[in-house]
Amino acid sequence: MSYQNSLFGNCPLLIPQNDDLTCYEGFITVQEDEFKMRIALPESGLLSQAKIECDWKLKNILSNYKQVIQQKLEKAANLIQFMKEFKNLLEESYKVKLGTTSGIDDAFGLSFKEILPQLDDIGWENVDNIDDLFTSIRLVKRDLKSRHHYINTRFLQEEEICTPVFTTDLPIPLHLPKAKYQSLKFSIKESYHYFCEAIELCQAFFDVMDEIDKNTWVLEPQKASRASKERRFCLGKNISVQIDVNPYYPSTIPQYRFFGTDHNVSLLKQKLNNNLQLWNERKSLLTNLQKILEISIPSPTNSQKEEFITPCGICCGYRLNATLPDKVCDYSLCEKQFHSLCLLEWLKTLPSSRTSFSVIHGQCPYCKKPLNHYKLGSNCGYEFCDVNGLLGIGMVYKIQQH
Ligand SMILES: [Zn+2]
Ligand SMILES: [Zn+2]
Repeated sequence: MSYQNSLFGNCPLLIPQNDDLTCYEGFITVQEDEFKMRIALPESGLLSQAKIECDWKLKNILSNYKQVIQQKLEKAANLIQFMKEFKNLLEESYKVKLGTTSGIDDAFGLSFKEILPQLDDIGWENVDNIDDLFTSIRLVKRDLKSRHHYINTRFLQEEEICTPVFTTDLPIPLHLPKAKYQSLKFSIKESYHYFCEAIELCQAFFDVMDEIDKNTWVLEPQKASRASKERRFCLGKNISVQIDVNPYYPSTIPQYRFFGTDHNVSLLKQKLNNNLQLWNERKSLLTNLQKILEISIPSPTNSQKEEFITPCGICCGYRLNATLPDKVCDYSLCEKQFHSLCLLEWLKTLPSSRTSFSVIHGQCPYCKKPLNHYKLGSNCGYEFCDVNGLLGIGMVYKIQQH
């Protein structure tokens, strides 16, 4: 049985004590020393309630790591994974104990003594993961709407100094007071505190993004992280919009870019400019967009995804470099969709195509009608709304309120 074998492979001297393989007893080998131990799962089979017994030497080595072991028991997928992590933990802590560690390991060992009390304060239920070698810790914050947010701390070792490096899935940078976060004594707890504050600040932004994800057919990104400020979603057949939401002012008009036939795109731009003054920051982004563009945005509750997502007419694939087709033939009876890159390559091979400035004029591969395409790198990206005076005042007012 592979289950049994894997555990033996990692700890060959731990012998199963029953047929169910829920209890093991024997020795675990670390740095050529052997320690007696026993691990038993309760009747429920829950790993988090496993009972570990060990000899006094092992107990002594692991005395500082009780919480870490419990955390690993709670997170591990099965006994094999736990034993692998347990053994790594033991290797590291034993090296620290023996004093035979290199500078790097030693510093990590010492660092951990500073870090553990901070994790106690933060609460172990908020510790999502600690890697096997103690070089990184991931903490989780669950907000009031049960959204999960993560902050990862990696410890960089340079000439006896251990510096924490933080990464988060926030859409805004995390500003930490330098003096405090460079000191390991405070860094984890302090950074978590600032992280939680930043999450509070971004609640309206997360609401806006959740509203889009729930109520529209999102084309890109395929799997958005909490940090992602961009969404491209369907507005109708062969027409979509990509928006870039400002995390500080998520209810203001986002930067936008339309994808579709030239005719449809210019129609939407015209409506947007004409109705801009109707944008109401107290209403949701989707409500505003529908009002201003005078359309009803298709949602998963009233439509099928296949109605809006069609493969590229040239490569026949859906995604190219993770992007769906973003160029549509302007002829209303054709409206074939293409990847920009595929179309560019196609037009370049046509002897009849000609280029003027940054535009290539050619033919649609399907209907042979004239088709224009901007060369990559030319200005065909986001457009900024020409915000009128009314909205400008709104922004200033908001800043004063903060
Ligand atoms: Zn293609
Ligand atoms: Zn065509």
